[in-house]
Amino acid sequence: MVTAEELNPWLNAAKRFENAADRLDLDDGMRKVLKTPAKELTVAIPVMLDDGRLEVFTGYRVQHSIARGPAKGGIRYAPDVTLDEVRALASWMSWKCAVVNLPYGGGKGGVICDPSILSDIELERITRRYTAEIIDIIGPEKDIPAPDMNTNERTMAWIMDTYSMHKRETTTGVVTGKPLNLGGSRGRPEATGRGCLFVSKEALKQFHIPPTKARVVIQGFGNVGGMAARLMAKEGIHIIAVIEHDGAVHNPAGLDIEALMVHKKATGSVLDFEGATNIDRDEALFLECDVLLPAAKENVITSDTAPKVNCKIVCEGANGPTTASADKILEERGIFVIPDILANAGGVTVSYFEWVQDRQAYFWNENLVNTRLEEIMVESFYDVARYSKQHGVENRTAAYMLALDRVAFAIKLRGIYA
Ligand code: GLU
Repeated sequence: MVTAEELNPWLNAAKRFENAADRLDLDDGMRKVLKTPAKELTVAIPVMLDDGRLEVFTGYRVQHSIARGPAKGGIRYAPDVTLDEVRALASWMSWKCAVVNLPYGGGKGGVICDPSILSDIELERITRRYTAEIIDIIGPEKDIPAPDMNTNERTMAWIMDTYSMHKRETTTGVVTGKPLNLGGSRGRPEATGRGCLFVSKEALKQFHIPPTKARVVIQGFGNVGGMAARLMAKEGIHIIAVIEHDGAVHNPAGLDIEALMVHKKATGSVLDFEGATNIDRDEALFLECDVLLPAAKENVITSDTAPKVNCKIVCEGANGPTTASADKILEERGIFVIPDILANAGGVTVSYFEWVQDRQAYFWNENLVNTRLEEIMVESFYDVARYSKQHGVENRTAAYMLALDRVAFAIKLRGIYA
C-alpha cells in the first residue's frame, strides 16, 4: 500500500539525505546547515485573465544552498505544485550540481497554475509578474532559473526581458534555457536526454551489453524522454516501448522514433502508431528490458511498482521518479540505478555552459558543447562508481555522499558568518 508519506518528495529527499549523512558520519550542526533551505519566498501573482476576471496565483522560489555558488534550478508550472515539492527539487539541484561539480548551489521555483487552460498572453502575464515578485533574489550572480516542467525557452525569454527591463540593461545570464538568438546555448534542448544517453551507455558496459543489443523502455516523451529516445535510437539502441499519460506503444524490435515523433505531433498522442501495438501503461512499465528510463514525473517507481519492474538498469531522467521505499526493493533485486542527481544532470550542465558563454559573450559550436558534456557526465558516473565501491553502498547513496561531501567541504572552507 503506497502511503501519502511515501509520495511526499521532501520526506523522500530527507530520507536519502539522512542515509548519506549517517554514512559520512556528519555531525548534527552540519546536517542542520545542509538540509535547511537557505531562503524560501512565496509570492502572490495577481493576473488579469483574458475574460476580464482577476485571479491570484501563488508562486515559490526556494534557494536550498548557495555554498558552492549562485542557486541554480528550473521553474515549473503545474496545478499540483507544493512548497514541499519545490523544496525537495531545490535540494536535489544542490546535490546534482555538486555531483557534476558545477560552481552552483541549488534552487527551484514553481507556480501553481494549469498551463493547459491558460492562453499564451495569460502565461506571459503570470511569468512577468512572478519574475517581478522574485526579482530581488534572482540574478546572474545570485540565482539563475531555467526551464522545468511546463516551462520552456519562451518562458525564459519573458523572464530575461522582464528582469532586463527592471535593471535597465540586457542581462542574458539571469536565466538559462533561452532561445538561441537571445544568448541560449547550442545543444541545451537536447542536453538532459543526451546526458541520459551517456550515463546509460556507461551502465550498459557494466553488463557487457553493446548499445545495438540494448532494449529500452521510456516513460515520458517530452523534452527529456523524447530527446533521449531520439539520441539513443540514433546510436542503434532499441526503444521497445514509450509510455505517456494516455497509454503506451510497444514494438519488441524497436520503435521508429522519428516517425513516432511525427505521429505524436500530428495526432497529439503516441497511441495508434503504425508499426506498434497500443498497450496498457503498467504493462509497458513492467516489460522486460535492459534500461527503464522514467522521464516524466515523480513517484513512478514506488513500493507497489518496484517489485514488478523487469529491467537491469533504471536511468532516472526525471527528478524523483523513485520513492525512498522503492530504493530498497530495487537494491535487493540487484537493479543498477543511475540516480536522478546524476542521470539528468546533463540539462543543468549545459545550462552552466550557457551561463559561461553569456558571461563571455562568446558562443561555442555544438560539437564543443556535446564533447564537454560527455566529459562531465562520464567523469561523474565514475566518481559515483568510485564512492559506491569505496563505501560499499548502492549508487544513489554514493551520489548523495559525494554531493554532501562537496557541499560540506565548501561550507567548512567558507566558515559560518556571524
Ligand atoms: N530543470 C532542470 C533540472 O531539474 C534544469 C535546471 C537548470 O538547467 O538549471 O535539472
